[in-house]
Amino acid sequence: MSQYRSPGECEVCHCSIIKTAPQQRYCKLCAVLVKRRTRQAYKPRKKKQTITKQKLTMEQAMLEARKAHLTYGKYIAKIEGGVRFE
Ligand SMILES: [Zn+2]
Repeated sequence: MSQYRSPGECEVCHCSIIKTAPQQRYCKLCAVLVKRRTRQAYKPRKKKQTITKQKLTMEQAMLEARKAHLTYGKYIAKIEGGVRFE
């Protein structure tokens, strides 16, 4: 096992740390904080990802209906809001 170990300094609190990875720059505590902070910073604006109910074309709907072994009418009713004809 050749574990990377090298003395270093935390970039945030400047305490001495033993790096366990060459790219390590923070002590454990700061790493958590930095991670949290960057995650927040890069958090994409909450675009409301509306899973758009795709407007199906008639053809698509019929195909889908067939796949689901439903009639076109039943299928549409199902995706439009669950009015059941069964
Ligand atoms: Zn630190």
